[in-house]
Amino acid sequence: MPPVIEAENLIKIHKQGNLEVVALQGLDFFMESGEFVSIVGKSGSGKSTLLTILAGFDRPSAGSVTVAERDLVDISQRELTGYYRHEVGFVWQDFTRNIVPYLKVRANVELPMLLAGVGGRRRKKRALALLEAVGLRNKAYSKVGTLSGGEQQRLALCIALALGPKLLLADEPTGELDTETSLEIYELLRGLSHDSGLSVLVVTHDVALAQRTDRVVRIADGRISTHGRFGQEELIAIDQRGMVQLPRDMLIESGIGDHVRVKLVEDGILIQPEERDE
Ligand code: ADP
Ligand code: MG
Repeated sequence: MPPVIEAENLIKIHKQGNLEVVALQGLDFFMESGEFVSIVGKSGSGKSTLLTILAGFDRPSAGSVTVAERDLVDISQRELTGYYRHEVGFVWQDFTRNIVPYLKVRANVELPMLLAGVGGRRRKKRALALLEAVGLRNKAYSKVGTLSGGEQQRLALCIALALGPKLLLADEPTGELDTETSLEIYELLRGLSHDSGLSVLVVTHDVALAQRTDRVVRIADGRISTHGRFGQEELIAIDQRGMVQLPRDMLIESGIGDHVRVKLVEDGILIQPEERDE
């Protein structure tokens, strides 16, 4: 399977009057199909800029970017429509932007399908299945206004997934929600990714939430921070067998070879090259 996202040397310069802001400065990013990945980074580091480029809402100033084998740099307006319909789903940070407030819940999920020309019976079936998957089946005929924030976020998710995208992008999807509801949304995303092979990329500044994803990528000053530096800190997922994949650049920098010495210390676990005494 080819990677779902291949972005190389991405540069994005936002122009505002005479002012130029370099939001992405040579960013490289790859994502395998079916991965559940989070991007963390301080405010202003370029997270939203990257996501809007991946979503096809904006173009990079330079560099290359391919999503599901579609080149997003030279894409025509017509191809872009196909891209929105078949490849990518987007959940806005303000998820009410996904939702039409005067339509009922099920009608909201059906709307993208209606616009894409999907027939009535298939629309209904798919909408109800999606609502079922996120625990909203019993709200299918409710007005949007009667839903809680968490329920509206789940509805936004169904709308983004209505046309069966390969990649789901979400910018701070739980920014407006409490911790418990946020965790539920992340578990839901994890389930979607693991059960149906959907590739999911979420942006967050919440490290505890990022930890719920399979891989955390840090962005700083418009670049993925990958170079091994002293004092570098990274958040790495531990899989169910207790396996941890150490960052390659850190391994090189630390001189660690085939084996490591692992020692339980007062405030954690220390990993050192095997020949070192202490
Ligand atoms: P993040 O999502 O990590 O907070 P953004 O991608 O929104 O970061 O912003 C990266 C940088 O680009 C910031 O300095 C921001 O002010 C600037 N920026 C983002 N969008 C625009 C825009 N449309 N016009 C001008 N500057 C922008
Ligand atoms: Mg942002």
